[in-house]
Amino acid sequence: MNTTNQFDAIVVGAGFGGLYMLKKLRDEQGLKVRAFDKAGGVGGTWYWNRYPGALSDTESFVYCYSWDKALLQEMEITTRYISQPQILAYLQKVAERHDLLRDIQFETGVTAAHFNESTSLWEVRTDTGEAFTAKFIVTALGLLAATNVPDIKGLASFEGDWYHTARWPDGVRFEGKRVGVIGTGSTGCQVITAIAPQVEHLTVFQRSAQYSVPVANGPLDKACVDDIKRNYDRIWEQVRASKVAFGFEESTVPAMSVSAEERQAVFEKAWKNGGGFRFMFETFSDIATDERANEAAQDFIRGKIAAIVKDPETARKLTPNGLYAKRPLCDGGYYATFNRPNVSLVDVKANPIVEVTPKGALTADGVEHKLDMLIFATGFDAVDGNYTRIDIRGRGGLPIQEHWKAGPSSYLGVATANFPNMFMVLGPNGPFTNLPPSIESQVEWISDLIKEANARAIKTVEPSAEAEARWSKVCHDIAHATLFPKCESWIFGENIPGKTNTVYFYMAGLGPYRLQLADVERDGYQGFLLQ
Ligand code: FAD
Ligand code: NAP
Repeated sequence: MNTTNQFDAIVVGAGFGGLYMLKKLRDEQGLKVRAFDKAGGVGGTWYWNRYPGALSDTESFVYCYSWDKALLQEMEITTRYISQPQILAYLQKVAERHDLLRDIQFETGVTAAHFNESTSLWEVRTDTGEAFTAKFIVTALGLLAATNVPDIKGLASFEGDWYHTARWPDGVRFEGKRVGVIGTGSTGCQVITAIAPQVEHLTVFQRSAQYSVPVANGPLDKACVDDIKRNYDRIWEQVRASKVAFGFEESTVPAMSVSAEERQAVFEKAWKNGGGFRFMFETFSDIATDERANEAAQDFIRGKIAAIVKDPETARKLTPNGLYAKRPLCDGGYYATFNRPNVSLVDVKANPIVEVTPKGALTADGVEHKLDMLIFATGFDAVDGNYTRIDIRGRGGLPIQEHWKAGPSSYLGVATANFPNMFMVLGPNGPFTNLPPSIESQVEWISDLIKEANARAIKTVEPSAEAEARWSKVCHDIAHATLFPKCESWIFGENIPGKTNTVYFYMAGLGPYRLQLADVERDGYQGFLLQ
């Protein structure tokens, strides 16, 4: 192989994770690194998700890197949350100011990565027909990146346009169009609310009713931004020690420890203040862990739906009855959107779509909903979805699909047994948080481990199967101490037919996660085999 295709490290993905990994390995360690992304530019999630209304639900001041301190001061924070075009521009700026673009090969999908045991090198192939080798491979493939388009009969016959929200093309126009949206998760709520005023008619196909609270986006005044910028060191310290890492102090007060009136007042304040994670974690300490506390939050949101939605039948369909234990949603007027005369709601749990026809969607009640455009806001084959789409083979040619046949696993969310010198950013059983601070924690830790391995001339680093099994149990026990596993969602792999229903996250929070990382490092990378 020609030496131009030989690297010290290959990074796959050019989102928050891949960009920082490239920077650390190349600029701090002087390694020869090549990054790949199948996208046409940097940004990852924010390159692909260009649908109308796409917005972070992490507040702007903590949906960014903490490591570029100068950029933190230069950054223009104008609104409480940051929109897709702004996040994409931010990541493009990071890539330019750190001269990362010259080492990223875009429009190049990694199709195979095989570990060669005789050379201890990874052999990587791409969909451009090229082959590369590297001692280390770091996968930053994204946990919400492999799109899920449900297999609905007749879709190929549809004469209108259809899109998945995470493959949104430029120039889509809605004026005069009858549009259908399938899916009412975080994405669905955003896209529905954004396009309803633009379309001729919007039909929302809802499978599960959702608990959502206001996002409360709006301008941030200069004094507030100046205050944030002055206090960034303290802010990041708080974020890194907290659980959900969203830039607020989580409540320590159990919901049932206060009177019903006080509870109502706390919820009311949180509703006005906005933010899904704030509503779930800043109000009371036990909404996600105690059924009674959870029910109090459910009742409050149900009351809001009843007050907002005018048509009682629509309100009934929009009202969830089960636990409030999915990734919390927030929106810019989702429930009120259903008061518009041009918006209708179809409950596809009670009345499923039986097929897509050339002219629209036919539901079980025999109604053909006429559509010019169909939007799939149906989410992702989350966490391991992009791993199982690549032919990754570890020791003895072990395919990752085989290794993870009982469900994906890892040690610390960053590595998996029998796949030496392969590190994952946001791999399975990593933290469930605002993600940039978790990504940074992992990237820095992986980078330190690679540095140590190179300094000690270590050939291969991989976790032991025992360490991985221990970590899986830790993640399982923590998750099952919460209410989340009792609710079907992508967090446990339940959104994709046939996908393993298991634990995909370490749910104790970023602070405890960082302590675990630090302990393992301090103990000489306990649980890792260094050869
Ligand atoms: P990604 O940004 O997903 O990047 C992964 C990259 O890997 C992609 O560009 C992909 O093309 C590339 N890739 C994958 N497979 C291959 C391959 N085989 N070959 C080459 N390239 C490949 N998180 C929050 O914390 N707060 C939020 O407010 C928030 N909002 C979100 C909104 C939306 C619409 C979505 C979908 C997700 C949101 N997330 C949010 C989660 C978000 O994904 C993370 O915050 C973060 O952007 C993940 O960065 P990443 O680099 O790990 O992965
Ligand atoms: P999602 O939460 O998985 O929601 C997908 C929606 O599609 C659900 O309503 C689901 O119904 C529905 N669906 C899936 N398959 C269907 C089918 N065959 N028929 C009918 N309905 C179907 O995906 P997402 O909304 O893209 O969000 C995923 C994650 O991305 C979020 O949890 C969040 O982490 C992140 N995100 C964040 C934001 C933000 O606010 N910043 C915005 C978008 C995404 P069921 O509920 O019944 O499964």
